Amino acid sequence: MAIRAVVWGENIHEHINKTVAELYPDGMHATIAKALNADSAISATTATLQEAEHGLPQSRLDDTDVLVWWGHKDHGAVSDEVVERIAKRVWEGMGLIVLHSGHFSKIFKRLMGTPCALKWREAGERERLWVVNPGHPIAEGLGENFVIEYEEMYGEHFSVPEPLETVFISWFQGGEVFRSGMTWRRGAGNIFYFRPGHETYPTYHQQEVHKVLQNAVKWAHIPRPAYKAVHDAPNVPVEKALEPIVERGPKLHAAGEQGYK
Ligand code: ZN
Repeated sequence: MAIRAVVWGENIHEHINKTVAELYPDGMHATIAKALNADSAISATTATLQEAEHGLPQSRLDDTDVLVWWGHKDHGAVSDEVVERIAKRVWEGMGLIVLHSGHFSKIFKRLMGTPCALKWREAGERERLWVVNPGHPIAEGLGENFVIEYEEMYGEHFSVPEPLETVFISWFQGGEVFRSGMTWRRGAGNIFYFRPGHETYPTYHQQEVHKVLQNAVKWAHIPRPAYKAVHDAPNVPVEKALEPIVERGPKLHAAGEQGYK
């Protein structure tokens, strides 16, 4: 069975900015989903901010292996209830790929637990992405580096937790560098942040970017049932201890009482 990916798009600038509308007439989310669907191992659909529950009701998330997230203009419009629902699914093993300005999305900040802030400049600079982890599955099929001719600059310090792995480091024409591909695990779920993707440039039409996104979806996918027990905090009574023990010392909880949550 193909990996079930959902590409979530904020879908605002495509309707209010002429440049973005011309570059992505079907929406950035549709362009990204089409690129993913070019890989037969992936079956990608889309969801947008404007749909009921932002297109992400529980039933849909339950059937999603990897969620891809692009947002920029109105992160605050995403409901906290949906954000919490997505976080739970990531902890249970759903993959999450956060793109570009999604660094300030509620879901990314929720899962990182840090400000996720960075420097930026919109000047159409050349970006060279260096593969700094050549054996990593997300870098498969790429050379030592590749160039995106027009991009927004993002500069360090990027205030995210120390990653599990760094896959790409970007250099920009103006001199800044940036950790542009990083992974984390939260609960049972794999998370990948990929920097490029400013909406006024044709980044999501570029072949190397498609390859990274396809690789990332395959890497983030965990081919196992959802790990629901990640939320449990069971009490193990004395008589169920694996080795016999004698209870001693003072106690807070009465036998059989639920723990605090
Ligand atoms: Zn941008």
